Amino acid sequence: MSENCIFCKIVAGEIPSKKVYEDELVFAFHDIHPQRPVHILVIPKRHLASLQDATPADEPALGRLLAVANQLATEAGSSGGFRVIINNGEIGCQEVPHLHAHIVGGDQPVGPMLKRLD
Ligand code: AMP
Ligand code: ZN
Repeated sequence: MSENCIFCKIVAGEIPSKKVYEDELVFAFHDIHPQRPVHILVIPKRHLASLQDATPADEPALGRLLAVANQLATEAGSSGGFRVIINNGEIGCQEVPHLHAHIVGGDQPVGPMLKRLD
């Protein structure tokens, strides 16, 4: 756990979240500001600031993260398709420095969901 990391605190139950899934490697919860009917965040439980910091030791959690993303998107009503978005670092417009995959979908095409770059 990294001190002052909001997502580590969510994993530890110190900050409330709308949890949708948890196992020994990953934790998933609804985004607090959903941008689509389905908007779930999936994170590794072990603090990892971004994908840029991943090492081979993180590969089991990263693989699980994608498998769980597919499972949760389908269960949440995105069986027709969805997006998995991972923002990385300042250039990648990442705001919370604990790796997270946005799972976005619903029953309509979700569009590119790009942030403004200016
Ligand atoms: P990013 O810009 O990729 O770092 O995305 C951060 C995401 O975390 C945003 O979509 C926020 O709405 C979401 N977020 C921030 N704080 C919380 C929280 N306490 N619970 C759930 N989602 C959060
Ligand atoms: Zn963290």
